[in-house]
Amino acid sequence: MRCSHCGICCENTEMMLSNADVERLEKAGYTRQKFMRYDNHGFARLRNCHGFCVFYDVVKCRCLIYEHRPLGCRIYPVIYSEQAGIVVDDLCPMKNTVSEMELKRKGKKVVELLQRMDNEATSRSAR
Ligand code: SF4
Repeated sequence: MRCSHCGICCENTEMMLSNADVERLEKAGYTRQKFMRYDNHGFARLRNCHGFCVFYDVVKCRCLIYEHRPLGCRIYPVIYSEQAGIVVDDLCPMKNTVSEMELKRKGKKVVELLQRMDNEATSRSAR
């Protein structure tokens, strides 16, 4: 797909984070308390600041951690919808540039990632 860097996917984001995402960002020098929170189900999610992801630079319209961004952000705009399953997010203005092959490849990653994060949230709540 071609990303237009519109920032729509970084606005009021609820992007979930895997343990590997959190560890990668910590290694890059970021403090977890500043960039993530746990939701009511024990899932780690990106924090927002003034309506955007804490890592989104609203002036430059860029992700400040692009090289280290979470896997969910790399896979986007392919997402899992409870109603429709694996789909391309309608919110993305470049959604039409996602090929069938990319949808299939990223869809597989979405399923694997969700399973992993579900396991991580379960083991977190068992502690
Ligand atoms: S980590 Fe980067 S790409 Fe992901 S929501 Fe935040 S600013 Fe956007």
